[in-house]
Amino acid sequence: MAGSVGPATASAPTPLIGVLAIQGDFEAHAAALERLGARAAEVRRPADLQDLDGLVIPGGESTTINMGLEAYGFEQPIRDFVAARRRPVFGTCAGLIMLDRAHLGLMDIEARRNAFGRQVRSFEQDVIVRGLGDEPLRAVFIRAPWIEEAGDGVEVLAEVDGHPVVARQDHMLVAAFHPELTDDLRLHALFLGLLSRESPGGQEDRPPVQRSSGA
Ligand code: GLN
Repeated sequence: MAGSVGPATASAPTPLIGVLAIQGDFEAHAAALERLGARAAEVRRPADLQDLDGLVIPGGESTTINMGLEAYGFEQPIRDFVAARRRPVFGTCAGLIMLDRAHLGLMDIEARRNAFGRQVRSFEQDVIVRGLGDEPLRAVFIRAPWIEEAGDGVEVLAEVDGHPVVARQDHMLVAAFHPELTDDLRLHALFLGLLSRESPGGQEDRPPVQRSSGA
């Protein structure tokens, strides 16, 4: 805990990560982030984004989360946070859907909701994630989406049955499953690793990200 108390500035040594708390699994994400040494804060209003170094958009029900984003006026503030201020974002399950072209439009991906079957289909599967070593990650899928289509700038890091379920684009990471429900913290650690790439605190003169122009 030492050093974890202090002003919530972007340059604080301990990163402050917001977890969108409109609906869904924010407490488990906060616990995972804290186990990795980050501080976690619930994000309930756009003003809560102000002092954050990064953002997690958790799973839940994507229609409910989407309605909440609209109702509280979150959409443009999140786009600014991620695109203009270059803060890393991690979307899991419904959070993956929120980041796709049809919703916040931050990642060049098209999500397919409830892609693994129409029934309430939940399953666990070992998934090899590129960059996380040879040991598979136990992934908990709960009525999960998959990535139906991805642009050139998107790096697919894991697939199930040939469908992308983990992907990264610049400082944006998505997983179709629920990494916060297991003790394996490697995906959260990967996300926190994106913070140092982006070095928070005034990157206004940074060159714009190379974005694919397709689709
Ligand atoms: N099936 C949900 C949806 O489409 C997502 C499920 C989840 O986040 N666990 O909103």
